[in-house]
Amino acid sequence: MGKNSVVTEEKKGHFKTFTTKQFKKSEIAHTTIIVGGLSMAADRIVAAAWEGLGYKVLPLSVPDMEAMQLGKEYCDGGLCNPTYFTIGNLVKFLNNLHKQGVSKKDIVDNYLFLTAGSCGPCRFGMYEYEYRLALNNAGYSGFRVQTFQMQGKLNQGTSEDAIVMDLQFFRALLTALIVSDHFNNFTYMMTPYEVVQGSVHEAIDKCILIMQEYFKQSGKDPYIKNFLLKSWMNKGSKKDLRQLIEQLRGKEIEKYLKKCSNILSSVQVDYTRMKPKVKITGEFWAQTTEGDGNYQMFSFLQSQGCEIIVETVSAWIVYLIWLADNQREEVSGVDANGLITWRTPVKYLKDFYNRKVNNLIFGIATFFFTSQYNRYGKILKYPAAALISVKTLEKVASKYMQVKFDGGEGFLEVAKNIYYTTAHKSNMVLSVKPFGCMPSTISDSVQSKVVTDYKDMVFLPVETSGEGKINALSRVQMALGEAKAKAVQEYSNLLAKYNLDASKVAELKIKFDPETSALVKIPEIKGYRLRVSHYIHYLLKLAGKI
Ligand code: SF4
Repeated sequence: MGKNSVVTEEKKGHFKTFTTKQFKKSEIAHTTIIVGGLSMAADRIVAAAWEGLGYKVLPLSVPDMEAMQLGKEYCDGGLCNPTYFTIGNLVKFLNNLHKQGVSKKDIVDNYLFLTAGSCGPCRFGMYEYEYRLALNNAGYSGFRVQTFQMQGKLNQGTSEDAIVMDLQFFRALLTALIVSDHFNNFTYMMTPYEVVQGSVHEAIDKCILIMQEYFKQSGKDPYIKNFLLKSWMNKGSKKDLRQLIEQLRGKEIEKYLKKCSNILSSVQVDYTRMKPKVKITGEFWAQTTEGDGNYQMFSFLQSQGCEIIVETVSAWIVYLIWLADNQREEVSGVDANGLITWRTPVKYLKDFYNRKVNNLIFGIATFFFTSQYNRYGKILKYPAAALISVKTLEKVASKYMQVKFDGGEGFLEVAKNIYYTTAHKSNMVLSVKPFGCMPSTISDSVQSKVVTDYKDMVFLPVETSGEGKINALSRVQMALGEAKAKAVQEYSNLLAKYNLDASKVAELKIKFDPETSALVKIPEIKGYRLRVSHYIHYLLKLAGKI
């Protein structure tokens, strides 16, 4: 415990955390639920999704340096910086409310923070306590912080709770996350190529508004319209079945996604621009935030002429399902060498049976989630890459590390570095992680062996501590120099191969593809990393030259 902790020298005894009052159903109408901590699009869409369930929800803005300073002031010392940024951001928001004339008592009575929680094993397990400590220290004693476990079972909480964490709650959350992942992918993939500056953000803003509209009414327009069938399915476990059918077959979302698709298709892009691709990996929060938490890395890389491949929350969810399945695979009833001991064959068989049942359940969960991700992508007609299977990533990382270790991104940082390099998906992999992040430190120790084995790899790990921005960005610039040189090499070789130069490519574009919609799918050519390389092949094909 640090300097701000409630446990002091004078008062030794059992550790007791802060207790806050329950958020009751009768308080829903006058209580605002605050959410935040993901990308801007995700926070806005998740807020809308929960509004659709009948709550008043408000997304926070992106955490900045002021938020981090507040976090440091009110939390324990020695924590990782997502704690400081996210907690400080909440305190900053509440302080602003107070400055506008809302009393602290009203803030405590009428607001609540809802966030994902965890049991660790890293410092993520301490976040909930730190939120309460900081709020107490900042003068908001009793402010409610409610968590849900992404790896927990359905129906978390009690029947008295206002927030019912049932299938409907998680269904809304997961749908919102998938949609926002697609929007985020689109934003970062297309912005470097947009013909009219600002057109990508403008289109995505319109799409977010459309999806907000969908979520706000989605609970009221279910797929099953037959009254008798609906009332029969409205009880007990049949209610969950109804939710699942609606999720898988519901047509309402298609109407809204199609509207978004029409808007996105009007964005014009120019893929003749040569842009080195940088894949962002690292710790979950540091690689997701779009502000000072990672030194505004995304806009910095774009200003340096790069295309960024951002990470999706959906990929992390698929990984969590994989982890939950694989950590249950440890079989008792076998000896240290994995052989069945003669004393416990019955136990072994029981464990084996349970393991297979679990494999099946988690396999179905992965299939459903992935198929929803692909379905929305297809309706949007968005040429996004599909989710990479965790099995593929496990295969490349298992040569270097124990893949079943839990915490942060687990083996994913190492796996993505190898995958994006060997599959020719990017020119550089940049891993951003908070200073002292335990799981990322393990990954980095493995990465030193990985970069020795893959000579072609351009990989840079950057620790984000809040301070030291100039130093971090200049290191990124140096690594980018190498990535850019490789990109120029690929581009020049391709032009030489087809006896082209930039002006001839421009001529081909004007003649065969004068207006390129952002939704046109350009096939990827094996062995090439750059979008311009794929596009030149596409143009040559249109011209009948290859
Ligand atoms: S993954 Fe790293 S930065 Fe994130 S909570 Fe755990 S220790 Fe902190």
